[in-house]
Amino acid sequence: MEKLAGKIANFKNTKNHCWSRYIIDTAVKNKCGVIQMEDLSGIAEENTFLKNWTYYDLQQKIKYKAEEKGIKVVFIDPSYASARCSKCGHIHRSYEKKEWRPSQDQFICQSCGHKENADINAAKNIATPNIEQIIKEQLEKQEREQRNQKYIS
Ligand SMILES: [Zn+2]
Repeated sequence: MEKLAGKIANFKNTKNHCWSRYIIDTAVKNKCGVIQMEDLSGIAEENTFLKNWTYYDLQQKIKYKAEEKGIKVVFIDPSYASARCSKCGHIHRSYEKKEWRPSQDQFICQSCGHKENADINAAKNIATPNIEQIIKEQLEKQEREQRNQKYIS
């Protein structure tokens, strides 16, 4: 069992080295100066299982390889990344999830009708420069609109 666990860990480590190298090579080729990723440190602190998680390790490998190439790495708060439409910016509410996320891989914007694979939509949001500020302003705007609607009706 121990030998097998070692082999699996070794395999994951090798894979993560390959994937992170591929990502950094692509970034260099495209003259990308900043890489943005979800900040998983919050979950990692609470959950040691997630801290060992392959994705967390992949991020760490991307981070140090990026820094070697002078690429800046920014970790962003992943809240709302999957609920925001990457096309029009509308942020959906979790209680309406049945409509905008009818299945695990589907995203359908209830504001502009934009349809996209849910992971790709979220990835586009995560890659948007200054996304945390954009989300904050959008939430404030939607809250104002909702308040005004209550006045009218
Ligand atoms: Zn939209």
